[in-house]
Amino acid sequence: MTTITRDAILEWIKTFATVIHDQKDYLTELDSAIGDADHGANMDRGMQAVIGKLPSVADHDIGTIFKTVAMTLISTVGGASGPLYGTLFLQMAAPTAGKTELTLEEWTAALESGINGVQSRGKAQLNDKTMVDALSPALAALKEASANKASLKEALQQAADAAKRGRDSVTPIIARKGRASYLGERSMNHQDPGATSTHLLLQAAADKLAN
Ligand code: ADP
Ligand code: MG
Repeated sequence: MTTITRDAILEWIKTFATVIHDQKDYLTELDSAIGDADHGANMDRGMQAVIGKLPSVADHDIGTIFKTVAMTLISTVGGASGPLYGTLFLQMAAPTAGKTELTLEEWTAALESGINGVQSRGKAQLNDKTMVDALSPALAALKEASANKASLKEALQQAADAAKRGRDSVTPIIARKGRASYLGERSMNHQDPGATSTHLLLQAAADKLAN
C-alpha cells in the first residue's frame, strides 16, 4: 500500500485500544512509580469509549473520525493524558478533514499538527520526560523517511522505532512536566508512562496503517 486508507485508520485506532487494554496493568505500574497509578486505567477507559463511538463515524472522512476520537478522549479521561491525547487527535483532524485516504506526506503533516497541539497545550519540550519525547522523534523520523523516499511501511516502522528510542532516552532523567515532575530526582530511572503509551500508538500505526 502506498496510501493510508480510512479502513486502515479505523484498524489503527481499534488496534491501539486493544493494545492499551492488554497493557493496562503495565502502564499503571509505570505510573505508580512516578505518578498516581492511573495511566493504564485512564487510557483504557478512553479507548474503550472510542471503540463504542467508532461505528457511528466509520463511513465518514478521516478528519471526522479523528475529531470523534478526540472528543471522546477529552470527555472520558480525567488525567493529563485525556486532554493531551484528545488534542493530538483534534489537531490531526483539521488537516485530514474531508479526506478518505492519506499519503505519507499528508500523514506526516497531520501528525505534525497534532504534536504542535500537544506542545501548545501542555507546554512540554523535548527532554521534559513526557509523551512529547516519543512523538517528536517519530515525526523527525517520518520526515527523514519521506526525504529518503522510503516506503510507507518502512517510514511508519522507522517512526515507531524512533518513538521507542525517545521513550527510553528520557528514562534516566528528571521529569519536568506533569505529576512526575513533583518527584524531582526521584523521577530519575523510571520509564515515562505517557511516552510508553505513545510508542504503543505509533507501533500500532506501523502495524496497521500500511495494510
Ligand atoms: P495524570 O498525570 O493526570 O495522572 P496520566 O497518568 O494519565 O495523567 O498521564 C501521565 C502522562 O502524561 C505522563 O507520563 C506524561 O507522559 C504525560 N504528560 C503529563 N504532563 C504532560 C505535558 N504537560 N505535556 C505532555 N505530556 C504530559
Ligand atoms: Mg497518572
